[in-house]
Amino acid sequence: PATIGIIGGGQLGRMMALAAKPMGYRVGILDPTPDSPAGQVADFQITAEYNDATALAKLADESDVITYEFENVDQNALSQQSNVRIPQGIALLDITSNRIQEKTFIRDEAQVPVADFVEIKTPADLEKAILSMGTPLILKTTSGGYDGHGQWDINDIADLAEMKKHWPNAQLIVEKKIQFTREVSVMVTRSANGDITTWPIAENNHQHHILKTSLAPANISHQLAQKIEDIATKIATALSLRGVLGVELFINESTEEIWVNELAPRPHNSGHYSIEATTISQFEGHIRSIVGLPIPQIECFKPALMLNLLGDELIQARQALANHPEWHFHDYGKAVVKQHRKMGHITVLGEDNIAKLLNWAATHQEGTEDEQ
Ligand code: ATP
Ligand code: MG
Ligand code: MG
Repeated sequence: PATIGIIGGGQLGRMMALAAKPMGYRVGILDPTPDSPAGQVADFQITAEYNDATALAKLADESDVITYEFENVDQNALSQQSNVRIPQGIALLDITSNRIQEKTFIRDEAQVPVADFVEIKTPADLEKAILSMGTPLILKTTSGGYDGHGQWDINDIADLAEMKKHWPNAQLIVEKKIQFTREVSVMVTRSANGDITTWPIAENNHQHHILKTSLAPANISHQLAQKIEDIATKIATALSLRGVLGVELFINESTEEIWVNELAPRPHNSGHYSIEATTISQFEGHIRSIVGLPIPQIECFKPALMLNLLGDELIQARQALANHPEWHFHDYGKAVVKQHRKMGHITVLGEDNIAKLLNWAATHQEGTEDEQ
């Protein structure tokens, strides 16, 4: 059978592999952690650093198609693999690995609104930005950030002095803080022949800057949902997208304004609900797009809620499994439990089960190991 090579062995790689296997593909993983979450369910794992050129060449040799589960892939090493197809291309990685390139592309090529932003090289640049853009602003590293790492709130000029004391050794961007009413996301893919498919919009809630819950379909007007789908379509078209792209957005329902926050050139945490709730999951959609299979129309069977299990919440949830036949429980198989680490998730379908899961989540949080 054809072999799909995945760079990265985390939960996204695992769920990609779990989608590809029943379709008859062989799956290989490149990851430095032995027996990684994805490696456990794949046909083979090459255990090496992501940027190890020899290991990457070996994965490429073994594979017909290469994909990745995160955006900070070594683009140079990847572009040197000539004997393998990389349907998503290198440009997608290049654009999405740098916030300035990404926001510039979204604004100028896809012609979709983003928060006002400016590149910051020196404290003087930041001072200028504060004076010209006003506050509040958010300063971010241009690359490598996730779960809010590498971000600083700039609420007034006094924060400049504070920033100067610990000026980050990184390339920076500052953007206007958007007054949004909700954060939403939409997964989009595009097939080899150019057909674009979106999944229902998810409404996202964060805790400690980490995604906690996603509710789909989002509780927003039909009109706003339509606008968001149009935005996703514009971006997918501008990128000549292959594979799944996660689009994070801010919306303000009173002004009907929408801003794109960021893109993920891969399936996204907020799309996990699609495993149980829609015609095909974002992971199957991703596989289908990269191997050149058509993508069906996506229908949502029932409203769905996904709850991330962080740190020891996974253990609490496993203990409660016997009382919750309605849970679709996902354990990523991570060997080490760490605070705030994404260890697994639960998805439920239907309004009653959503209410029950939200209740359970309110009383079962990291570090509160009481059991019902
Ligand atoms: P992820 O884990 O999603 O990759 P990240 O570290 O790349 O996160 P962002 O998504 O840019 O960071 O920002 C994290 C969160 O901070 C957002 O989900 C949002 O709640 C808030 N945020 C970021 N940028 C802005 C902004 N310009 N205006 C308002 N809130 C923002
Ligand atoms: Mg991000
Ligand atoms: Mg984000």
